[in-house]
Amino acid sequence: MLPMASGNSYIDDLRNKPEVIDPPQNKDMLDVGEHVSDTAQSALKPNVTVTSSVRDLLDCPVCLNSMYPPIYQCSNGHTLCSSCKPKVHNRCPTCRQDLGNIRCLALEKVAASLELPCKYQNFGCIGIYPYYSKLKHESQCAFRPYNCPYAGSECSAVGDIPFLVNHLKDDHKVDMHNGTTFNHRYVKSNPHEVENATWMLTVFSCFGQYFCLHFEAFQLGMAPVYIAFLRFMGDDSEAKNYSYSLEVGGNGRKMTWQGVPRSIRDSHRKVRDSFDGLIIQRNMALFFSGGDRKELKFRVTGRIWKEQ
Ligand SMILES: [Zn+2]
Ligand SMILES: [Zn+2]
Ligand SMILES: [Zn+2]
Ligand SMILES: [Zn+2]
Repeated sequence: MLPMASGNSYIDDLRNKPEVIDPPQNKDMLDVGEHVSDTAQSALKPNVTVTSSVRDLLDCPVCLNSMYPPIYQCSNGHTLCSSCKPKVHNRCPTCRQDLGNIRCLALEKVAASLELPCKYQNFGCIGIYPYYSKLKHESQCAFRPYNCPYAGSECSAVGDIPFLVNHLKDDHKVDMHNGTTFNHRYVKSNPHEVENATWMLTVFSCFGQYFCLHFEAFQLGMAPVYIAFLRFMGDDSEAKNYSYSLEVGGNGRKMTWQGVPRSIRDSHRKVRDSFDGLIIQRNMALFFSGGDRKELKFRVTGRIWKEQ
């Protein structure tokens, strides 16, 4: 925690009233920096104003992202992030002077002294993190919102699970089903058109959780195939508590698959491209359909259960 101790003195300088900082209080603040708790948040409150103005200094004036070392400055002291620096042709974007190669070590050290709440605070995360490790935490924060699991469009909706369930229902008109078993008939005319597109998404609700059943056509090399797989609307650690089986058949034939649902943290494409599901060659699919090759008719039955 030594860097923090020196970091606090930077903040003290900025506050310009070092007399209000007494050592025991300072020590408390060092301690809470390592533990994430409610007390950490209240103990940090006196610092909030300073923190937010210093944090503004750490926003790159060009791309507006947070800056990380090396942070650069022109000879007049205007700062710039390292990814914008190569793009400004050695000219300070603020004052148009030559930029040179001057690092802003002071600002880098001030950043190291900062502790900021996780950006998913509004989603329930109470964590407070040193500036330089905040990004890493946020990339793995359990409260970070999920992407919309619908695969048929470039949907940019993000949110928690209850939000996404409503979004799938209202905006994508997805079929919703209650229960641990399902039995669906899929019919598709003109099965010779295999577009890389979602064919069907159904949401199942059971065990107080939601599961997405994807069923779609895609091109595997030269061969058109169909794939069916289940995704869990939640994190991977929870998804592992469930198993599912799928049976697809018709015309006296049947294929079965047993798997573990994948978290929707894994993109639809990632799951599909890892073939973690029931894969049906198109010829087999047409066989299921009765062999007239005019339309595709499957019966898909499945079951979801909770492992002990
Ligand atoms: Zn930038
Ligand atoms: Zn400048
Ligand atoms: Zn967080
Ligand atoms: Zn969506």
